[in-house]
Amino acid sequence: MTQLPTSARVVIIGGGVSGCSVAYHLAKLGWTDIVLLERKQLTCGTTWHAAGLIGQLRPSQNLTRLAKYSTELYGQLEAETGVSTGFRETGSITVALTEHRKEEILRQAGLARVFGVEVEELSPTEVLQRYPHLNIDGVTAGVYLPHDGQSDPSNVALSLAKGARNRGAKIVEGVKVTEVTKAGGRVTGVSWQQGEEQGHIAADMVVNCAGMWARELGKMSGVNVPLHACEHFYIVTEGIDGLKPQPVLRVPDECAYYKEDAGKILLGAFEPKAKPWGMNGISEDFCFDQLPEDFDHFEPILEAAVNRLPMLAEAGIHTFFNGPESFTPDDRYYLGEAPELGGYWVAAGYNSIGIVSSGGAGMALAQWMNDGEPPFDLWDVDIRRTQPFQGNRHYLQERVSESLGWLFADHYPFRQPVTARGIRRSPLHEHLKAKGAVFGETAGWERANWFANEGQERDYKYDWAGQNWFENRAAEHMAIREGVGMLDMSSFGKIRVEGRDACAFLQKMCGAQMDVPEGKIVYTQMLNQRGGIECDLTVTRLSETAYFLVVPAATVQRDLAWLRRHVGDQFVVITDVTTSEAVLPLMGPKARDVLMACSPNDFSNAHHPFGMAREIEIGMGIARAHRVTYVGELGWEIYISTDMAAHVWETLVEAGADHGLKLCGLHAMDTLRLEKAFRHYGHDITDEDHVLEAGLGFAVKTDLPGKEDFLGREAVLRKRETGLERRLMQFKLEDPSAHLHHNEPLVRDGKIVGFLTSGGYGHALGGAMGLGYVPCAYEREPAAEMKAARYEIEIAGRRYAAQASLAPMYDPKSERTKA
Ligand SMILES: Cc1cc2nc3c(=O)[nH]c(=O)nc-3n(C[C@H](O)[C@H](O)[C@H](O)COP(=O)(O)OP(=O)(O)OC[C@H]3O[C@@H](n4cnc5c(N)ncnc54)[C@H](O)[C@@H]3O)c2cc1C
Repeated sequence: MTQLPTSARVVIIGGGVSGCSVAYHLAKLGWTDIVLLERKQLTCGTTWHAAGLIGQLRPSQNLTRLAKYSTELYGQLEAETGVSTGFRETGSITVALTEHRKEEILRQAGLARVFGVEVEELSPTEVLQRYPHLNIDGVTAGVYLPHDGQSDPSNVALSLAKGARNRGAKIVEGVKVTEVTKAGGRVTGVSWQQGEEQGHIAADMVVNCAGMWARELGKMSGVNVPLHACEHFYIVTEGIDGLKPQPVLRVPDECAYYKEDAGKILLGAFEPKAKPWGMNGISEDFCFDQLPEDFDHFEPILEAAVNRLPMLAEAGIHTFFNGPESFTPDDRYYLGEAPELGGYWVAAGYNSIGIVSSGGAGMALAQWMNDGEPPFDLWDVDIRRTQPFQGNRHYLQERVSESLGWLFADHYPFRQPVTARGIRRSPLHEHLKAKGAVFGETAGWERANWFANEGQERDYKYDWAGQNWFENRAAEHMAIREGVGMLDMSSFGKIRVEGRDACAFLQKMCGAQMDVPEGKIVYTQMLNQRGGIECDLTVTRLSETAYFLVVPAATVQRDLAWLRRHVGDQFVVITDVTTSEAVLPLMGPKARDVLMACSPNDFSNAHHPFGMAREIEIGMGIARAHRVTYVGELGWEIYISTDMAAHVWETLVEAGADHGLKLCGLHAMDTLRLEKAFRHYGHDITDEDHVLEAGLGFAVKTDLPGKEDFLGREAVLRKRETGLERRLMQFKLEDPSAHLHHNEPLVRDGKIVGFLTSGGYGHALGGAMGLGYVPCAYEREPAAEMKAARYEIEIAGRRYAAQASLAPMYDPKSERTKA
């Protein structure tokens, strides 16, 4: 029987590739007292049976950075640990079978270059030269990544485990964690069981690396880890005579990938409708288990594969493999500290890319645990993006049956999930639906993204250029620019911060002056110690002791966690009131006329200036009108208690009829804000982006009374002294026929210098627009010089001339908002 310690600095739960990587990287940072507990044997969950593909290119810069790190690590690990990871740099080829997919992979190739991943675009004949066994019928293009490869998944984990042990980590098999103990909102350790024996290890931190068990394990401690297992399939052929080493091949249009290994072909699938597994939990005995074959399910993939790789027709099938892997509602894994419980960390939910991801994810998580903040922006995979409802098993089963296939699906802009919809609805949902709303989903909310005309199909027709709703959005956009439009933004996150210390607390959390008169609305950011932006929000002072915070729908859990983490023993109560009020932004030059038609209140500049909130009577109800805008026009956001939301909406629609009021969707809001260069959290601004480089210095007040020690102040002062290293700039393409979506390479004077953080179409300015960071060419390069440079944006390999600006191209002095 293994002697387990009674205390440790950290206990890692789970000995798959994820847990082994976290242990390795913490040990590498010099942590001692690391214990990893595995209920059965290392790798016995999902890790042992992975296909072992190691592809570096991911949808964002930082996820690519992590996958690239893994690739390099697995190439070197044997030299350090003596255990080979089996990594072979075979390169990889992805082929497109449609024009749309061609556009996608060529866009990806551009992105690879921005992210420093070597890539080559291939014509169909060049594809054939690199992969002679392929039937290139219907192939429209290919891309080749020479440094991608493949590995032996178990050995990757075992090599990491060896490296961790060499540096002092204690890794123990056959010990199950039965409970994560807690007190005072923090983890205190774990209870364990080994055969008949039970015990407890006191620990400051735990890391849930329990793969498909992570949800159940989290639930025991009140931590939400929304994931669910699905059956995941591949076959391996018998040896094929004369088959030489081949690059990994992906044919996403046929949901298939191919890996040559020892003269055999492994053919794996990412089918569009997957089979959730383990609906009623996972057997206690699970250890190196396989699931039953399902040939009918795999057959369509095999059929297409035999056509694509004709040599398969002759090859016998050696193995039909079906194993479980965990999938998440958005096809992205979970990393970070759980918002529900201090010291409870998570690295799980890898959606079938856990081998390639775990190296980098373990490194990033270890750094995060060590420093208390992530080494760079990890919002894409941050556990704080989850919503409480997403832990629902029924929801998960529905959604993962779709999300498994997303890795190989067309990644069209604006693509919406089709399963597990309609769970969170605005009180106006049915009203909007009756008027032609076409909904999209964010954080489980159904949001009206655009409005169909009478007789128009209420569905997305995806494309890389303007989609079927382009003209609808243009009309909504122009209604707000020239007349008046109304949105439904009830999904906004809303947080009340109240109590004797509310003002002092927010002074410390926010960059702006928060000690303002009642009714004042302040646009501000919460910063971290590096001056990075943790939250972008408006704060309204409701009374001497109460503030109302409005944050993006997707970030509310993160923002609550950030606030709660810093509240300490201050006399402050923080409450999520998101669902207590609906929000109707009424925007456009005629917004005042509409309000005056249905409210007796005074909406003049003298009585209700920009940046103020006032209680108003409207119809026969009451509401709070906030004079702010995210679209750059005169307007009010009307906050209404949900019970009166429908009444107020009906009142506004009726009053608006005489003024041409148009119902508008979120897509129009996005293009409107792009013309104004208003930043969007998660895209243009993240915790990695310094507030001054993001161009938001105007909102940060370091010199005012009360602003002597807010979080991030030092970093702001430092940056003012050392100067900016880059600037967020706005771009507009000269060719009005092109379309931008974000992530397009940004070219300065002929050289790629970055990428667009957001993109869209400026319907009033007449061209595609985007925002993106441009690094200074030299220290303290003046803004004017940066603006004067020659810019182009690259779209699927073609470069388009772009105008650049530091001030918003639309209404640079914001005169329209104050009209
Ligand atoms: C068919 C298939 C093909 C794949 N191909 C690839 C690929 O080509 N490339 C790639 O990158 N990824 C691939 N994957 C995905 C990859 O295998 C997984 O993402 C990865 O192995 C997940 O690792 P993990 O450590 O999170 O989970 P696991 O390996 O499942 O590890 C979790 C561990 O936690 C242990 N545990 C659970 N509860 C407790 C407890 N209470 N106490 C102690 N221990 C506990 C379990 O026993 C288990 O060993 C594939 C997966 C499948 C199924």
